[in-house]
Amino acid sequence: MISKLPNVTTSIFTVMSKMASDYNALNLSQGFPNFKSDSYLIELVNKAMAEGYNQYAPMSGYLELRETICNKTKLLHSKKYNSDTEITITAGATQAIFTAIATVINKDDEAIIFTPAYDCYSPAIELFGGITIPVQLKAPFYKPNWEEVEDKITHKTKLIIVNTPHNPSGIVFSEDDMLYLQFLAGKYNLIVISDEVYEHIIFDGLIHYSAAKFSELASRSFIIGSFGKTFHNTGWKIGYCLAPENLMNEFKKIHQYNVFSVNTPIQKALAEYLETAAHYLSLSSFYQQKRDVFLELIKDSKFKIIPSKGTYFQMLDFSDISNESDFVFAKRLTKDYKIATIPTSGFNENQEDFKQIRVCFAKTEETLISAAKIINTI
Ligand code: PMP
Ligand code: GLN
Repeated sequence: MISKLPNVTTSIFTVMSKMASDYNALNLSQGFPNFKSDSYLIELVNKAMAEGYNQYAPMSGYLELRETICNKTKLLHSKKYNSDTEITITAGATQAIFTAIATVINKDDEAIIFTPAYDCYSPAIELFGGITIPVQLKAPFYKPNWEEVEDKITHKTKLIIVNTPHNPSGIVFSEDDMLYLQFLAGKYNLIVISDEVYEHIIFDGLIHYSAAKFSELASRSFIIGSFGKTFHNTGWKIGYCLAPENLMNEFKKIHQYNVFSVNTPIQKALAEYLETAAHYLSLSSFYQQKRDVFLELIKDSKFKIIPSKGTYFQMLDFSDISNESDFVFAKRLTKDYKIATIPTSGFNENQEDFKQIRVCFAKTEETLISAAKIINTI
């Protein structure tokens, strides 16, 4: 059989997590919390199951959850999506992104992505015959250059994918960035996928500029969220996609035959849990405290650090420590220092190596202290 994705190998998150377990290393690589989520949320899921919410949910999602997300989006971004026609609950953000890409991309279409990029964009683009056009963000600030984006737009460009707050760099798009995106998308008639899975993890008083906040941008965007990320349950694989009705209609045609519908009891529980805005509004300060504790603990290390502005990832620049490649360095840290991290060159065009590794600080204070002790000896 001829492979459809000949260049795809096992994801670096899986590789490094396995290495962490093989070498009994502290795992700050793959992005997942090592603490429990709110017991009240778990109780709500148990209650939903006990009460019999165990059969198929509607194809586009449990109605009350769709309504709650639409109300939350209105509250936070002043944009009202229609809960019947403009939202679908998905099996995590990965499936939402895949389905959105499948909806948009035809053979030979070009899709612009910013690199370093989360790993699921490019394979999906290629699977549907598209061509990924990377725009490289440069360390250490990873600031988008919109003129470069415009230079890469051709008559074949159909889609642009953005991710804010950004994995792995921890940068956040400004209002001006989103306005530029809106301008270019309008000028060249592009569809946008706005990956906003870290929408509630943003620091130092910065604002999350969702694509939903900009009406012309929203009218051509799929906006993607993830409750696994938001509520510390990455294993639940539940998320959502918001888009105007014309786009969502096409999205649903694919979702219907790929997934049909997402597990019911968690949807029922999330609908109730999201009614209390504090459950998501408290997350930025919760994670900022973790970031601050961690950065204070490693402030005298030999790594160069620019504090993350969002997500639960921090980049560590090791150029003063070693001139090894980031892969060799990260593997050596796992084996010799018993700490697993993510080398980031694999997320870049041509594997450009900025000598930066990514660590996940969604960890208990105890783990952060143990990690810092190791990091300070490197
Ligand atoms: N986008 C980004 C930027 C991510 O970091 C992740 C990983 N959580 C995803 C999408 C996928 O999210 P999910 O686990 O809900 O599929
Ligand atoms: N989003 C997680 C990360 O960036 C990984 C999810 C996965 O393993 N696919 O680390």
